[in-house]
Amino acid sequence: MSSADHGPTVRGMPPASGAHPHCDDLAERIERFLDGELDAEQVRELDEHLDDCLPCTTERELRARIRELVREGCAERAPADLIDRVRARLTAVAAGPDAGDDGD
Ligand SMILES: [Zn+2]
Repeated sequence: MSSADHGPTVRGMPPASGAHPHCDDLAERIERFLDGELDAEQVRELDEHLDDCLPCTTERELRARIRELVREGCAERAPADLIDRVRARLTAVAAGPDAGDDGD
């Protein structure tokens, strides 16, 4: 009784909760955005997505920040440790509902 034609019912599990289907592609686009390689329309699309997607917004902040730090440090690329730190920091900020005591 080994019917192999049962049909593969392998459903792809949803990625992260609330993640957009294009988020994976967005990372690359963000890189290009930071490189100034996107045209106006692409920037607008990216902006629209970021407006609605916190993970991607965090990703952009992370990448932008890292570029700054790398430029300041005159390093060719950011060490993994630095990326990890910045990412953790940004994630914490993004997770906190009231991260910022900017009252008056
Ligand atoms: Zn996204």
